[in-house]
Amino acid sequence: MSKLNNIWRSLKLNYKSWLILIASNVILSWSNILHGFLEYAINICILYYGHVISHWEIFYPFNYGHIYHHKNVNLLSSIIQVLIEIFAVMTLYIFIITIFGKNSLNAFTVLMFSIFYTTIHNINYSILHVNKVHEKHHNDVKYNYGPDIIDIIMDTKYDVENDLENTDHYIPNILIATTIAYYAKKKYNLLNENSKMNVIYFLIMIYIIMLNILFFLTVYAFYITKKDVIEKIINGGLEDLFMEFMEERWKYIKNCR
Ligand SMILES: [Zn+2]
Ligand SMILES: [Zn+2]
Repeated sequence: MSKLNNIWRSLKLNYKSWLILIASNVILSWSNILHGFLEYAINICILYYGHVISHWEIFYPFNYGHIYHHKNVNLLSSIIQVLIEIFAVMTLYIFIITIFGKNSLNAFTVLMFSIFYTTIHNINYSILHVNKVHEKHHNDVKYNYGPDIIDIIMDTKYDVENDLENTDHYIPNILIATTIAYYAKKKYNLLNENSKMNVIYFLIMIYIIMLNILFFLTVYAFYITKKDVIEKIINGGLEDLFMEFMEERWKYIKNCR
């Protein structure tokens, strides 16, 4: 079947979630709905590419938090993963507004997508196990980065002919995330300029604190899983450190193929 046909089948199967997403755009981008559509498309791409980038070999071992999430189901892995998702969305948002200007992306639609994605990943897939789509990604990191529609477009969808995702389970997440973003926007717009600056300073502080916690938890996760390697490095010299690093890196690259 052609790619266009698969895209069409996915849109038809998931028309309810798309309609709810369009309604979410109307609510959050009421003053400029057309720009809102562009923002929603960019946000969907951010979710996909944020995940793809976190698997790039070049970032190993800095992406160890996500690798740990792939191999472990425990509280530490969930906390690291939630922090990574919030941190990554904030970083990409800062990156985009720095390049394209303050008005290129609405912070409240970014907030909506951040809550939407983090709850789908960490509640719908990881706790409720709504389907096997994300599990396939955990078994083979070449497929199903999500959202499904971008996987179809980018040829990273596992068994695209027989395993299209029914995304009806997105609906409560979109509704809750849109409600939170809507009230956050309403409250923020009522503030005076001084209080708005205070909110921004507060968010910058949260961002820096999150980065630190994420760093320490990732190092800790690395330490508890690679204890033997670290001990070898501590007892050895610089040459051992280099050899171990190359070996670990090679193991990781092999796993990604
Ligand atoms: Zn992944
Ligand atoms: Zn996962």
